[in-house]
Amino acid sequence: MEVAALEKLVKQLLVEQLGTKIDPIKKAAPAGARSGVFETVDEAIAGAKKAQKEFAKLRLEDRKKAIDAVREAMLLQVEAMAQRAYEETGLGNVADKINKHKLAIEKTPGVEDLVTGIQTGDHGMTIYELSPYGVIGALTPSTNPTETIICNAIGMLAAGNAVCFGVHPSAKNSCLVVIEQLNIVLKEAIGIENLIVTINQPSIKSAEELMTHSDVSLLVVTGGPGVVRAAMGSGKKVIAAGAGNPPVIVDETANIEKAASDIVSGASFDNNILCIAEKSIVAVASIADFLMFQMEKNNAFFLKNEADIKKLVDLVTIDQKSINGKYIGKSATEILKAANIDCDFSPRLIVFEATKDHLLAKHEQLMPVIPFIRVNDFDEAFDVALEIEKGYGHTAVLHSQNISRLNRAARDFQTAIFVKNGPSYAGLGFGGEGAATFTISTPTGEGTTTARHFAKTRRCVLTDGFTIR
Ligand code: NAD
Repeated sequence: MEVAALEKLVKQLLVEQLGTKIDPIKKAAPAGARSGVFETVDEAIAGAKKAQKEFAKLRLEDRKKAIDAVREAMLLQVEAMAQRAYEETGLGNVADKINKHKLAIEKTPGVEDLVTGIQTGDHGMTIYELSPYGVIGALTPSTNPTETIICNAIGMLAAGNAVCFGVHPSAKNSCLVVIEQLNIVLKEAIGIENLIVTINQPSIKSAEELMTHSDVSLLVVTGGPGVVRAAMGSGKKVIAAGAGNPPVIVDETANIEKAASDIVSGASFDNNILCIAEKSIVAVASIADFLMFQMEKNNAFFLKNEADIKKLVDLVTIDQKSINGKYIGKSATEILKAANIDCDFSPRLIVFEATKDHLLAKHEQLMPVIPFIRVNDFDEAFDVALEIEKGYGHTAVLHSQNISRLNRAARDFQTAIFVKNGPSYAGLGFGGEGAATFTISTPTGEGTTTARHFAKTRRCVLTDGFTIR
């Protein structure tokens, strides 16, 4: 066994068996300093620019070493990161946040994602290589604040870049701790500081400065429609990961028991704050009652009388015109209590029957409250689901055993993520195949972004040689 592998095994054994945390961050943290955290956007970007120049001189092997160090160190922080983000934002729950952080750390691809393209022929050889942009400006959401930073950082570093993060002000403290920790780990691993930077007082104004800074070559924004619009107007190359409103269809051929369990799991995961989470259920009438029954078995709470539905809708909307931000990311129990609705257990999800025109079907609610829409058949279900998805091109889910329906939906939804017979989060790589990502680019079309999207393609031509066929 190699020395490095042996070292890792010993550390793991110590952590597991002695309960000792071998924490490289604690070991190397400089007292009093906030590595990577600057007063101004100008200073932060200047630091990142200098760091990227040094980083560009290193080998791929060094990038890999840097990313391995990030994974190893941040895995020891997942509980702390989840707890901090929950306490600071008040969104979601700690257990699901632990899983989201683990996913970002373990399944975000590194340098192996940078695949070279090649053509050879009578005139020689041409390769297409993925090379760094330089300094990336990345805006991150409040809903997955530190997961997105880790995921973006791994992918962006793998592609050879430095990153200046513009973090959501409401998750500022959690994000600053992680950015500082990433810098400590990177300095220890490869001797470069400020590859990951930010400023200490983020605001919309500083986000705008970041978006228009002349030394930022690529913008990667993850958030709602406002930030996507602002980034698109910056005149820079943009990867925009915007809002979604994912519908889930259940038809009469589906495995209803599994569909029910998957929907409750997906729609209640981190209290529904994920952009990919099921936001409306569209069920074919012949199985609708059985689906409800099965969802109840999985701890969903169906509101059965009009008075309760009214109480709920009055609470979670503002005058039935927009979503009440106060209840975004809150648990089903908290919402029921605030609405003064009796429930004798702790449900994971609140469900009520509605039409496709209900406000909560039309708007991304980001809370564990979901409309259940009954339709006559699959054709109607598909039309309704398309309408609910609103052309965001984000995520859709279908539970069906009918191949031609699955095929039609895969083609016609035109979403970046389409999950068949699973919970929505399978589309993030959680319990589904594929890389993890927390930046699902929708209006700009990159889809589930990884390192290769944070690199520019350059063509390198050699004439009259290296064709050996
Ligand atoms: P948000 O849009 O409020 O904030 C996202 C980031 O953009 C923050 O850093 C914020 O400071 C900045 N920002 C917001 N408006 C801005 C403006 N006008 N100019 C400059 N910067 C601005 O989003 P949020 O509430 O934190 O996150 C939830 C939203 O993000 C939901 O709509 C969700 O669907 C979406 N989201 C999408 C993805 C994806 O991968 N597609 C992932 C996570 C969240």
